[in-house]
Amino acid sequence: MIDVRGVWKRFGATEVLKGIDLSINKSDVTCIIGPSGSGKSTLLRCIAFLEEYSEGEIYIEGELLGFAQEGGKRRRVSEAEVARVRRNVGFVFQQFNLWPHMTALENVAAPLRLARGIAGDEAARRAGAMLEKVGLSARAGAYPSQLSGGQQQRVGIARALAMEPHIMLFDEPTSALDPELVGEVLQVMRDLAGEGMTMAVVTHEMGFAAQVADTVVFLDHGRIAASGSPEEVFRRDPNPRLRQFLQNYF
Ligand code: ADP
Ligand code: MG
Repeated sequence: MIDVRGVWKRFGATEVLKGIDLSINKSDVTCIIGPSGSGKSTLLRCIAFLEEYSEGEIYIEGELLGFAQEGGKRRRVSEAEVARVRRNVGFVFQQFNLWPHMTALENVAAPLRLARGIAGDEAARRAGAMLEKVGLSARAGAYPSQLSGGQQQRVGIARALAMEPHIMLFDEPTSALDPELVGEVLQVMRDLAGEGMTMAVVTHEMGFAAQVADTVVFLDHGRIAASGSPEEVFRRDPNPRLRQFLQNYF
């Protein structure tokens, strides 16, 4: 579903990603862990092509997203092509990014109308179904300011899911939440994984990674310094940088 091949990302002279190779199979959950500044968000943003990478190739469902190599030249694919491939990729950010002047239901329905041209009634119906999926039917008419952080993030997830993505990318979806609200968001993600959604999750929730991930990837200074099953990465990997990182959590 996702194939990242030899991806480098530079901001000026700063090398943030240094040759990332990563494959994510259908229905797999990949958790990306690593210290602050190691390039986790940049990697996720490159996968969704919210960020242009400097070298390498990224394929989404077998289709190139970003740049094509043609006769030794690198060509950026057209905006229409980017939009078409990205259509199937949902993104959930650390900040919930809800529209404050819209209810939960409208927050989920508006992109369906605006980006997909779905009629108002049908958009509202789908939005209602998505809110039910994340356990928020009863709060459909509430404004973001009337919702807890955990509820707001669940609306954010519902909004992404309403677009019927094949792949969901999460960038620290629980990092802005009070500790007692983390569990409800992780539960929604766990349910989603159980339904077979293909997911890449940047997280510091090591319990979630250990339980839910098929693969854990440890990013360090822009390189994948370890990857494997949670057992391999959390229990057996001898990499000293990883051990040092994990000491903060276990
Ligand atoms: P993480 O998500 O692992 O904390 P990021 O991917 O956000 O790390 O950032 C990795 C590095 O890239 C950091 O050193 C950060 O300062 C740098 N960086 C990220 N975005 C930009 C940008 N737009 N311009 C310059 N440097 C950036
Ligand atoms: Mg980040």
